[in-house]
Amino acid sequence: QAKDLGRNTFCFFNNEQQQKVQYRLDLTAQMRMAIQNNELTLLYQPKIDLCSEKIVGAEALLRWQNSRFGAIGPDHFIPMAEQNGLIAEIGRWVLDTACRDTQTFIKTLPSFHISVNVSVAQFKNTDLASEIAEILDFYRLKPAVMDIEITESILADQVSDIRNNLAGLRRLGVSLSIDDFGTGYSNLGYLKHFDVQTLKIDRSFIQDLTQSEYNQTIVRAILQICKGLDLTAVAEGVEDRQTLDLLKSWQCKTAQGFYWAKPISKAALVELLVAQMTPDGSVESLIE
Ligand code: C2E
Ligand code: MG
Ligand code: MG
Ligand code: MG
Repeated sequence: QAKDLGRNTFCFFNNEQQQKVQYRLDLTAQMRMAIQNNELTLLYQPKIDLCSEKIVGAEALLRWQNSRFGAIGPDHFIPMAEQNGLIAEIGRWVLDTACRDTQTFIKTLPSFHISVNVSVAQFKNTDLASEIAEILDFYRLKPAVMDIEITESILADQVSDIRNNLAGLRRLGVSLSIDDFGTGYSNLGYLKHFDVQTLKIDRSFIQDLTQSEYNQTIVRAILQICKGLDLTAVAEGVEDRQTLDLLKSWQCKTAQGFYWAKPISKAALVELLVAQMTPDGSVESLIE
């Protein structure tokens, strides 16, 4: 009967929603303990210079392995951490760990650059620029070693904390990259205003580049913007040689992607850096 069905459906949804709420509560409780329980790790994805095909830096990417929920991806838990406020503490852990590990990386490659993802929530209600300055100072790293990856929408935000922190970061001398460029709200005027150095072309435009004329048009247009505004372009998500060759033919200088390496441990990155110091040790020849 329709009435019964209706009631059952209502109960079903109610139950499901309740489970969702419980899940979020449980996950938040676990997240609160993640740092002290040593459940967070940073992996590093190499950034490759396309002329030499050598590693010039890396992007730090966060991983969470929880005893109860298993491996939880950053696309899932970072938005939750932004909502429950734990992003501040987690973000500080990421910055600290990335800088500590970079001390090791620059011993092998003095020109090494580290890129760290910072979410918009970390720009609010804090003095992020001073926090980063302190961490860099603690590890005796020059600010120019660090690159902060932000999304396009942050630049358009009128919140004064965000604006002050952006200006503070540039005064400090860390560089700014726009992550996932081409997928969000873009006001190209802000790129100049905030003195952004790098546009990271979103993976969705790179993934089927050889097949899609549409994506080729977009990628070439972004590369033209970079050339005209004197910005560095980084192609995200390069997975094959044909895509790489196409990007090289358009004078794209830097890329990341599974073609060279997935995000890897600190020790594995050190190994790659050491190996590429030997003559002819290009990254390509190191990865099967
Ligand atoms: P993102 O910053 O755009 O990072 C690039 C993502 O693409 C990473 O996913 C990386 O593993 C993946 N990727 C790189 N090359 C390839 C490729 O060739 N093919 C494919 N299919 N994927 C590739 P990941 O590590 O799962 O990170 C997802 C997102 O989570 C990041 O996107 C970033 O927005 C966020 N995130 C990760 N770590 C942090 C962090 O420490 N703090 C903050 N605020 N966000 C983070
Ligand atoms: Mg990123
Ligand atoms: Mg990205
Ligand atoms: Mg992303």
